Amino acid sequence: MTYDPDNIFAKILRDEIPCIKVYEDDLTLAFMDIMPQAEGHTLVIPKTEAQDLFNLEPDMASALIRTTQKVAKAVKKGLKPKGVMLAQLNGAAAGQSVFHIHFHIIPRQGGIDLTLHARDQADMSKIQEIAEKIKAALE
Ligand code: 5GP
Repeated sequence: MTYDPDNIFAKILRDEIPCIKVYEDDLTLAFMDIMPQAEGHTLVIPKTEAQDLFNLEPDMASALIRTTQKVAKAVKKGLKPKGVMLAQLNGAAAGQSVFHIHFHIIPRQGGIDLTLHARDQADMSKIQEIAEKIKAALE
């Protein structure tokens, strides 16, 4: 499978569709998932064309995990969940639905608190409110 430049995250990177951004640098972008599996569900993507882990340059993999760690720390500090889960899916068989590599950062409160994957769009004003808390906690 080759990289599709019209996938949704490529469109976000080109500012063709909006996102609620929490962090950006030269190599990566972090923004809120609009169909969160838990409150505060955040996505981190590289600014290069790579559909999955197997097509990502090692230097970009390094940049991606650095930003993921930075944003996960802000999620932990800003939202104070009991735990923070990271997920990264490769291939449709693994559940991947957007074919531009990304890490999910999912705050967990313990127990069964996850909603279904990429199913229900949350209230955007609520997501914006949560994003502000994460941004305020970024170091
Ligand atoms: P995957 O299934 O590929 O691991 O995850 C894709 C994620 O992208 C899902 O959690 C889904 O909710 C999220 N998503 C899908 N479309 C959009 C969109 O247009 N904007 C944002 N912010 N997230 C999206």
